[in-house]
Amino acid sequence: MTQSASATRPPVNWPTSIFIVATTIGALLWPLYAYFYGVTAGEIVLALVYYSISGMSITVGYHRLVAHRSFQCRPWLKTVLLVTGSAAWQGSALEWADDHVRHHANIDTELDPYNIKKGFFHAHVGWLFTKRDIVVEESPGFLTSDPLIMWQHRHYLPLAIVTSFVVPLAIAGIGGLFLAGVVRLVAVHHSTWLINSWAHTGSNRPYNPSVSAVDNWFLAFFTFGEGYHNYHHAFPGDYRNGVAKYAWDPSKWTIWLLSRTGVVWGLRRISPTVQWSRRVDTLVTAEARTVSFKAVMAARAGLEARIRRTETRIHRMSARIKDLQLPSSVELAELRRRVSDAVADWKAKRGDKDLLRIKRAQELVEHLAAYRELLARVIDHQNRVGMIPA
Ligand SMILES: [Zn+2]
Ligand SMILES: [Zn+2]
Repeated sequence: MTQSASATRPPVNWPTSIFIVATTIGALLWPLYAYFYGVTAGEIVLALVYYSISGMSITVGYHRLVAHRSFQCRPWLKTVLLVTGSAAWQGSALEWADDHVRHHANIDTELDPYNIKKGFFHAHVGWLFTKRDIVVEESPGFLTSDPLIMWQHRHYLPLAIVTSFVVPLAIAGIGGLFLAGVVRLVAVHHSTWLINSWAHTGSNRPYNPSVSAVDNWFLAFFTFGEGYHNYHHAFPGDYRNGVAKYAWDPSKWTIWLLSRTGVVWGLRRISPTVQWSRRVDTLVTAEARTVSFKAVMAARAGLEARIRRTETRIHRMSARIKDLQLPSSVELAELRRRVSDAVADWKAKRGDKDLLRIKRAQELVEHLAAYRELLARVIDHQNRVGMIPA
């Protein structure tokens, strides 16, 4: 190591480093403890419940609510998420979101706190060994102006100690402290850290090929849905990470279920056409590198299927709405005109239920237009680059 390199090396953050090493050693010693003193079903259940609550408080609370503001909620719920999030020992939500906002804004550069270009270990945990304390005055205003976030920041240490160690000790004694406290804590740490390391390693980038983030469904299974990280970096404001209906994303389901009860609202989601358009962009970019003719053909098949499904939906809709017979052969402009006329008609009649239906039809027609344009773009692109067999 040269003198200048060692001179610029940031100082070690001893409290964080000692905490990480100590809890890791503690977790590794647990099997020995369990061997001599046994383990009860209660301790295991408590640890699993604690893992889920503290882990989800990070994904739903720290990440999607605080850092990305992808939905809104009642203050009591935010307070609960901030308190239970403290049990994950990942710093206050203010510190966490401060780092995370810089990660999104400066991904894969020197200013990215967990820059994967510095290696898997650095992105996973190495960065924490030299992590500087945040300067509150320099943190984004949407964080520092939130009284609940600031309250948790000021009382973070006692909150973390009580939620992480005192409560498991009180519920299940030393065995509970060991398993639901220390072992669970180390597991939650690695589950979050894997998003910074493993979810930035690989090649599956369906939405944004220019960043290191990847979609990894396997990782999503034990990170409460955060494994769909390429989608997340493409659309960070979307409350969903696993955007497909079947995609494993318990954080998304929790937010959606809470929205049904009224304690959560304002769920932000990307329109399916924007999402689809981004996928086409990605595929076209991939094709420009002449790596994926097959992928572009798959995209075209996907687009065609999407259009067929959209047209079917319009037909179904039109059958329900008697006045609106929309044969698929009708020109798009004509479709738009008829739907627009129908909207005006229903507005005049003030039939709210029917208006909702016709608005859905209008939305479908617009989606259909977008999909057709995308398809035309792909076909045009293919023809221009001459990759389609004559
Ligand atoms: Zn990331
Ligand atoms: Zn994020």
